[in-house]
Amino acid sequence: KNILIILGFSFLIAIIALIAVGMTQNKPLPENIKYGVVLDAGSSHTSIYIYAWPAEKENDTGVVRQLDECTVKGPGISKQAEYLDDLEMYMSECMEKAMHVIPQSHHQDTPVYLGATAGMRLLSAENRTQARIIMDKVTHTLNKFPFDLRGARIITGEEEGAYGWITINYLMGEFTQKSSWFNFNTDENSFETSGALDLGGASTQITFQPFLNDTYESPKNMLYFYLYGKYYSVYTHSFLCYGKDQALLQKLAKGIQGTNGILYDPCFHDGYERVMNMSDIFKTSCTQKFYMAYPFNQIKIIGAGNYDKCYASLHELFNTSFCFYSSCSFNGVYLPKLKGNFGAFSAFYYVLEFLNFTSSEVPNKDTLANILREFCSRPWNELKKQYKNIKENYLSEYCFAGTYILTLLHKGYHFTMDTWNRVHFMDKIQNSSVGWSLGYMLNLTNMIPAEQPVSRPLSNS
Ligand code: AMP
Repeated sequence: KNILIILGFSFLIAIIALIAVGMTQNKPLPENIKYGVVLDAGSSHTSIYIYAWPAEKENDTGVVRQLDECTVKGPGISKQAEYLDDLEMYMSECMEKAMHVIPQSHHQDTPVYLGATAGMRLLSAENRTQARIIMDKVTHTLNKFPFDLRGARIITGEEEGAYGWITINYLMGEFTQKSSWFNFNTDENSFETSGALDLGGASTQITFQPFLNDTYESPKNMLYFYLYGKYYSVYTHSFLCYGKDQALLQKLAKGIQGTNGILYDPCFHDGYERVMNMSDIFKTSCTQKFYMAYPFNQIKIIGAGNYDKCYASLHELFNTSFCFYSSCSFNGVYLPKLKGNFGAFSAFYYVLEFLNFTSSEVPNKDTLANILREFCSRPWNELKKQYKNIKENYLSEYCFAGTYILTLLHKGYHFTMDTWNRVHFMDKIQNSSVGWSLGYMLNLTNMIPAEQPVSRPLSNS
């Protein structure tokens, strides 16, 4: 009987051992993950994006995903000139988050890139030395973290547009699916990529693949890519001073003309008042063209909420009276015929999301105009009570910002009733934020094969 028990017991152990061996053999090998970090130093704030991808598949499309993101508390770095010594504290919360999210064993080989956008482009044009001091200090600060800092630099508007376009199309899987050596289809539309519309605080970008016939007129607006075995000719333009915050300053600077220091402004709600220093309005080069000598150094803005009047006042920022090309957007800038769908992100999304337009069933210009007509006419006190959790400076500017977006798309880029529904307002695609950051990292880590800009290279110099 004892022998039987021992035999039974041994049999059981053998079975368990076999199962255990089987399990370890079938267990997938641990994935070799790589990480990357991009800091988007915008005009109003800095965001940090943490990306991860399987090392073996890094040249596939759509494999890089955003692991996490962090918004740095405080303003954009262009407003940090007086607080340079605080930069480490400014960055530390988000950089520590990155150190926490990325395993320690990977810190040293994780590339970190910082790209500063139009806030720093403006500062650099106004005060090159100050801009350089800030960028040097930013580099010095980032070097204190255990990652592989590969550069902190001011990117051009053209790069901002190009990388935003790469990001959208990479996340949508547009690059590999439709382009292969055996694809003989010559119909332009069969290779349709999505255009990119980006609205920041200081600049706005429009980037898309136009019809082939429209790629010759203005070479300075064209970028040429060779991605995954296919050529792309892409139109891009960045309008400095036409980001949402600089556009507001332009509008105020223009509105002050002929007043006695009190501006009744239809883009702000009834009952809203704001006092601004004239020096704050005119310290940016975006408002210089409206400068005159004034006998007052402060201006009082009194809200007179009226969408139609606000729209009319914003129209004046877009000069469409001259064009030396076959077609222009505004201020004499070439714009080819709009083609395909567009993803509109950053402030385009934040503002229209607040206005509930992004979920609208009929997302056209008239629907947005009706939303704004109603919203702009609401008294400020009522709004403040309803939206207690929304930052007051955002809340007070949604009427202006929504109307500005409508004007920019309609009067600026000529989206009509027919083309309006091709604009899709978006924040994320499969949990990755839409913006230039991802495209920037993909390019600089050579993760898009055969990405050879044929004309002007988008280099990291
Ligand atoms: P930038 O800092 O240049 O990337 O610009 C971002 C723009 O989006 C700025 O004009 C910000 O004021 C604006 N923005 C960011 N978050 C929000 C929000 N929640 N609501 C409205 N505007 C926003």
